[in-house]
Amino acid sequence: MEITVQTASKSYPIFIKSNALDELATVIQKNKFTNLLIITDETVGRLHLDTLRSALKDTVDYSVFTVPSGEEAKQMSVFESCLTFALEQGLDRKSCFIAFGGGAVGDLAGFVAATYMRGISFIQVPTTILAHDSAVGGKTAINHPLGKNMIGAFHQPEAVIYHTEFIKTLPDHEVRSGFTEAVKHALIADPVLLSMLMDNIIDLHEMTDEQLIHVLQRGMEIKANIVSIDEKESGLRAVLNLGHTLGHVIESHLGYGKTTHGEAVMIGIIYALHVSKEMLGLSFPVDRFEEWVKRLGYKIELPQDLTFEKVYEGMQRDKKTIAKCPRFILLEAPGKPVLKEVEENLLEKVYEVMIEQS
Ligand code: NAD
Ligand code: ZN
Repeated sequence: MEITVQTASKSYPIFIKSNALDELATVIQKNKFTNLLIITDETVGRLHLDTLRSALKDTVDYSVFTVPSGEEAKQMSVFESCLTFALEQGLDRKSCFIAFGGGAVGDLAGFVAATYMRGISFIQVPTTILAHDSAVGGKTAINHPLGKNMIGAFHQPEAVIYHTEFIKTLPDHEVRSGFTEAVKHALIADPVLLSMLMDNIIDLHEMTDEQLIHVLQRGMEIKANIVSIDEKESGLRAVLNLGHTLGHVIESHLGYGKTTHGEAVMIGIIYALHVSKEMLGLSFPVDRFEEWVKRLGYKIELPQDLTFEKVYEGMQRDKKTIAKCPRFILLEAPGKPVLKEVEENLLEKVYEVMIEQS
């Protein structure tokens, strides 16, 4: 399956299938890259680097730089060491970086590619479910000690090669983390997919290859459509933020390692659905949705020590907030997202009901 992402700055293909790596050599030859630098993390390198090496066969010379797994990959010091290694290897403007890993490696390697010699090519080879989201759209970033994703650039890849076999080694919490973004894509843009998921997926382990590829492919199409209209996030792209306002607060309250991004965002999605019911009269079985995600293994209780006061402070720091009034992505209906200011009273009322039930 091939999807084309069309943005103002460029157009590029996404290959998604169980053997998508077969496309890699062709992409390299077509672009006439002279050499490659693969950036991967310790976990992905250990599990899957041999498969990537076999796919490269004798196409072109390459070297490998391994970074720590997870969010640690996005440190300033790691960014600098990638650049140093690239300079030592003599990469030039005809070279290409390969981002081989989840969203963290994708964000880091993309930003390295965006800044090395003022920007050279890179290819995304995502290995997590979450990366169906992060590998599309051209946002690249590293973290600053004062804030996540604070240093970054928009830089689109030459191609996304999504070899879905890699996903099979993901631990359960990472499967849930990525699946949240797929559910988010369905909620904002595809009610038919949403019903299919809620009716048919009762165990994330038992998804067939066909179901998984369908879900990821639709998710990437939805993201690609939004990004093609709004590459640099001046408007529409904000709908991708459904669930993230509260999700980010919970994620940073619990601390990295205690929850995953997507598991925290799932609670944020449920909150946004309740707010949508109260404020916009959303007609959607939120209770059934909650039961469904619980059965999939999500913990949807709010942390008891996270008071509304702390939450509201966190929401006011959200990038969508204007003049201290938090703005939320809400649903008028499945597939109809809107960006709205929400009054503190309503936010508190919904929060207190949820925390009571937790
Ligand atoms: P990740 O890259 O940290 O991967 C999660 C964990 O899974 C890591 O420990 C990793 O080593 C491991 N892993 C990766 N692939 C594996 C595999 N096939 N088998 C076993 N283990 C594997 O995290 P993620 O959840 O993929 O992405 C989260 C990151 O993505 C965050 O830094 C977030 O800011 C970023 N993000 C970016 C965008 C964007 O548009 N650029 C969008 C969403 C998220
Ligand atoms: Zn997210």
